[in-house]
Amino acid sequence: MKPLALELDDGYFSYKVEGHSVPALNGVTLSIADGEMVAIQGPSGSGKSTLLYLLGCMLRPDRGTIRVQGEDIRTLDDVQLAYFRNRQLGFVFQQFHLLPAADVLTNILLPTNYPLEVGVASGAADKERAIQLATQLGLGDRIHHKTQQLSGGQQQRVAIARALIRDAPVLLADEPTGNLDSNTSKEILKLLRQLNNEGKTIVIITHDAEVAAQCDRVIWIRDGKVQNPEDNPAPRPHATRAADVPDLPPLNISTLFRESLPRAWDNLKRNRVRSALTMLGVVVGVASIVAMLTLGTFTKEKILQSYASLGVNTLLLHARPNWMMKAVDRPPTSFNFLNMERDVLPLQEVFPEVVSLSPLYSSWGNSAVFGGRSIENEASVIGVNEHALGITRRPLAAGAPIGEFHVKNRSSVCVIGFEIAQRLFLRQNPIGEVLQVGVEDTSFSCTVIGVSKPVFSKETRFKPDLQIIVPYTAYVNLPFYYYHRQLGQVLFEIDSGSDIEEASKKIRAFFQKKYGKSGIFRADSDSVLVAQMKRFLNLFTLLLVSVAAISLVVGGMGITNMMLVSVNERFREIGLRKAMGASHSAIRQLFFAESLFLCGIAGLTGLLVGFAAYQLLIYAGTRVIPDLKFEWVFNPWAFVISFAAIVVTGVLSGLGPALRAEKLQVIEALRSE
Ligand code: ADP
Ligand code: MG
Repeated sequence: MKPLALELDDGYFSYKVEGHSVPALNGVTLSIADGEMVAIQGPSGSGKSTLLYLLGCMLRPDRGTIRVQGEDIRTLDDVQLAYFRNRQLGFVFQQFHLLPAADVLTNILLPTNYPLEVGVASGAADKERAIQLATQLGLGDRIHHKTQQLSGGQQQRVAIARALIRDAPVLLADEPTGNLDSNTSKEILKLLRQLNNEGKTIVIITHDAEVAAQCDRVIWIRDGKVQNPEDNPAPRPHATRAADVPDLPPLNISTLFRESLPRAWDNLKRNRVRSALTMLGVVVGVASIVAMLTLGTFTKEKILQSYASLGVNTLLLHARPNWMMKAVDRPPTSFNFLNMERDVLPLQEVFPEVVSLSPLYSSWGNSAVFGGRSIENEASVIGVNEHALGITRRPLAAGAPIGEFHVKNRSSVCVIGFEIAQRLFLRQNPIGEVLQVGVEDTSFSCTVIGVSKPVFSKETRFKPDLQIIVPYTAYVNLPFYYYHRQLGQVLFEIDSGSDIEEASKKIRAFFQKKYGKSGIFRADSDSVLVAQMKRFLNLFTLLLVSVAAISLVVGGMGITNMMLVSVNERFREIGLRKAMGASHSAIRQLFFAESLFLCGIAGLTGLLVGFAAYQLLIYAGTRVIPDLKFEWVFNPWAFVISFAAIVVTGVLSGLGPALRAEKLQVIEALRSE
């Protein structure tokens, strides 16, 4: 007695549709022997296709046992079942289910790509066989045509060739001649007969009595039941054959790169428009993130720079008499501005953390005149000692700073701001020239010994670029108003090892103790300000990044949306790939590889676009903000973070459909419209 190829014992199946259950098979029992050629006939809707899906292991029965080639398919896990289908069963769908954008050859070769776990991609022998099958089925001149450009009959033949490519012992075909003219139909039938003679077990659903007549026997189906059980021997108990299913290894990373990436690339190339649109979303997302992050940190740096123009370890003491003081508050010594000998010079002994100090006399609203050109009322005159330029770390563009010698000798020399040099001296070298400085209706002159470099500053009244810096010993003898001649400020450089906020408090306390409420003292540090500013700017950057994150989310939603739009198409593709022997993990890997490609390429493009965008914005900024100079900015972290963010978003949204489709049975996935 021949072994059985297909057995179904008391099989039940219902489709679940929105909570309802649509019964399709109601207790079907049948068996088909090895090498038989059987036709299934019956009215439309009677359950023929469903029966074939059960026999093809693409649906699991609600109840009942299925054995294929002696293997009880309930004992197989997902990967094994996929492998089993791939090797034991060839299936021709009624609706063909081809990859529409792929060519005939690719479609025929699809089963040879699976299962990935075995690591077999179609080789030369497979290709040869595919071409031979195509030629045999009259598709020889259509090998490289896309299947969506073929007629129904031609597509049918591609589907048949695909079912034959693996040379599986069992061939299941759902109305394989339904779309063919009678000549081709006869050819196909001849081919099937020949395959049967070579030993294949063949089951075909057909409406065509002529086709049925060619078969060994007919199974009649009506209302989900076999109508002629007397012709259909029930499966008899027998020993199970040794399983032809190896223990398949799980997919690993090297398989991913060897097998999935090239295929993912092919897939993306086939779906150009969809891929391009998806990529556009990613590009915009990455570009905006990288631009926002970089601009955020750039702005922060610029603002901090302007605050730090006084130097970072500097303290500035402001002192003035308290004109509002009440009689009862009168202290032992009354304060009337600072005195160098009495108040300032001793500080260095009292406070060891003071590295150096300089008085800071200042007058504003002065004019500067040279060679017939003048700057009216915009300049300020500053009186300092030899330490000041060092404390403020102000570099010189030319010449020399105020030195100890100048201070001792009350020399009438000056270091001028960059803008003064530019506006008054044009291209002439100012060093050694005599500058006239106007103070109200009088004036004095000084010899220019140095020009300071341009300084980016928040200061508006004492713009560093419009300062005329002179030795304070000379300053005190100049014809300034009373208040401009008083010393109200002292610059300190604090040892970088000590706490600057602490030092500022101590200095202030020192004066308060000495003068009580007769003076008002404040010791500012740009460092303190800078610290506050930093906190604020970090918030600001955070805000920018949130905006960028939102745009990333929007970009991500775009990707997800694109994926959802194509999800039905993808569902069908997933179903098809599964039917051809792809396991869940193979599908996941394919999608993963696709998303990786898409996001990788688009991410890199996005980085470039973002780079161009923010450089352009910085350039535009230099046009609007006069103090800002154009520069090339590259913040590696911004690049790394935005790239990583988009790849994660993209891969996750790309995996969505694959994970959803995994839950579907092959047939449900194939049926999605
Ligand atoms: P046949 O191939 O003989 O025309 P089918 O096996 O396709 O019949 O269908 C059997 C029954 O199951 C029919 O009543 C049909 O409406 C129902 N059916 C088939 N596929 C689905 C599905 N995906 N969802 C719900 N009902 C279905
Ligand atoms: Mg059908």
